[in-house]
Amino acid sequence: MNKIKNKYILLPVITAIFSLVFLIFVSNTFKISTDKLYIDFLKDASSKNISTVYVTTSPKIQVKLKDGSIYETDNPRTNNFKENLLKDGINVSEQTLTNPAEVASIAGFIISLVVLGIMAFKSSKIKTKSMFSATNLDVACVEDIGFNFDNVAGNEEAKDSVQDIVDFLKNPDKYSAYGARMPKGLILYGDPGTGKTLLAKAVAGEANVPFYAVSGSDFVQIYVGVGAGRIRSLFKKARSHGKAVIFIDEIDAIGKKRDNGSGGGSDEKDQTLNALLTEMSGFNETEGIIIIAATNRLDMLDPALLRPGRFDRHIEVTLPDVSAREKILKLHLKNKPIKDIDYSEWAHKTTSFSGAKLENLANEAAIIACKDNSCFIENEHLDKAYSIMLAGYEKVDRGYIKDNDRKITAFHEAGHALISLKVLPNDKVSKVTIIPTTKGAGGYTLSIPEETLYHNKEHLKKKIMVLLGGRAAEEIIFGQDHVTTGAYNDLQRSTQLVTSMVTEYGMGESLGLLTMGKLSDSGLANQEAVFSECKDLISELYEEVKNILTDGKEVLESMTDLLIQKETICYEDLINIVGEKSNIVA
Ligand code: ADP
Ligand code: ZN
Repeated sequence: MNKIKNKYILLPVITAIFSLVFLIFVSNTFKISTDKLYIDFLKDASSKNISTVYVTTSPKIQVKLKDGSIYETDNPRTNNFKENLLKDGINVSEQTLTNPAEVASIAGFIISLVVLGIMAFKSSKIKTKSMFSATNLDVACVEDIGFNFDNVAGNEEAKDSVQDIVDFLKNPDKYSAYGARMPKGLILYGDPGTGKTLLAKAVAGEANVPFYAVSGSDFVQIYVGVGAGRIRSLFKKARSHGKAVIFIDEIDAIGKKRDNGSGGGSDEKDQTLNALLTEMSGFNETEGIIIIAATNRLDMLDPALLRPGRFDRHIEVTLPDVSAREKILKLHLKNKPIKDIDYSEWAHKTTSFSGAKLENLANEAAIIACKDNSCFIENEHLDKAYSIMLAGYEKVDRGYIKDNDRKITAFHEAGHALISLKVLPNDKVSKVTIIPTTKGAGGYTLSIPEETLYHNKEHLKKKIMVLLGGRAAEEIIFGQDHVTTGAYNDLQRSTQLVTSMVTEYGMGESLGLLTMGKLSDSGLANQEAVFSECKDLISELYEEVKNILTDGKEVLESMTDLLIQKETICYEDLINIVGEKSNIVA
């Protein structure tokens, strides 16, 4: 196609060259060859032979005789030259005499240049377009995906929900005999890393059909119409195979709810979405093509996508629970050299980890074991990997840290740890350290939150108290004027929690059961009252924390001493200290 264009582009090039050559030729030959003396000109004038005189500012004037012949002569440059000629009945033109052939060739040259420009512009557009165009879209198609349900641990409900799809892909005839209509599309929704892509691959693998994967963000292009073209070519490709699973990751990139507020600029998205919907309604349920889309948020999607006949099956893929986490960890450590790993303990420690994070944990542990030249992957490697994932790498060079800073960090962390032990005994504090991390923390306290579906008001308050423990310890030990910036992150998180309680969870006084988001939509929010309630609540909790720490100052100091001495202490160390001290008190 481009070759043909190139041939056409030769045409204006040739005419341009031709007219240029012609112009040079004409202007050379058409030179007004005859040059007469001024006296002869005056003679011609007096004998009324002249039809027109061409006068310009140039030193020569051109004279056209009545018989058509032309000659040049000197420009007298007298003031009333023109007037005299006019009086003699001679036409005077103030333009140079031009040859029509010359004019024609100049015009030809300019026109062919313009045509050339337009053609070049057009072909460059074609080129860039084809660069992004559907034909060049890399749809990763995998014939034998090599995944099946064995690769997906946990997610039992989701697996169940796609079982019939697999069956249908295997024998569509069976379903059409019953007149059953299979969903054309399904949407997997849930947090990132929960295994949505994995599940889609497993469906293709189980059914043994090709797997086409694209991402919604691939379709978002600058050129209107390109996205739509890509969708069409994707479907064309898939249909050429007969059966297939088409996977569209991040469907929200093209199928986001159209909100009226931010109009404009969504033309492209709309076209792509419409193309998708058209393609989906274009093929038959019995063809054996299933479209699986994934998104983090189902509620963000355009309702047009979710209607019957489109993506009409919605499957939630949730974060794994304890037993699923154990299975996922086992799966990812299966073919690795492991020794004495307590899977159930690790499953408990990894609350709110996604499948992807667990895979990462196993992999990170393997890397650490390899670096250590250890024969096996053991608990300690998982431990290190776990800390790295949660807090970042430990800083190796710690010589620069001043003793006073270490002391501040130790009291701060001990404050968190002590409050956690006192108010949330079910969240096991597994590690307290004053080794700074590459993520910027001076130290950290790691606790394993209890697995629950909901958090009640009391629990949230206690969590806030744990967050405030660090700053409170600093204040008690060093005085109000010596508190540090180390609590920055803690304060951000506690502020977030307090405001959520009051404005979103219906746990406050000023709004009661109303939520701030909806209220401000209607312009009803009373921010003053909410603000002072949040502030009062956090101050009240802070006082409580300070009381607990003041009462347990001895324990706090022992913890700090041990921290400064060992840098990192674990749950058993903490229990020892608390146990000892409480014995003394008792
Ligand atoms: P999503 O598409 O939901 O963001 P992915 O499917 O891309 O998540 O998951 C990323 C990786 O996490 C997978 O390749 C896999 O290694 C791991 N993973 C996630 N969930 C599971 C699971 N249920 N079982 C086994 N591995 C999982
Ligand atoms: Zn802190």
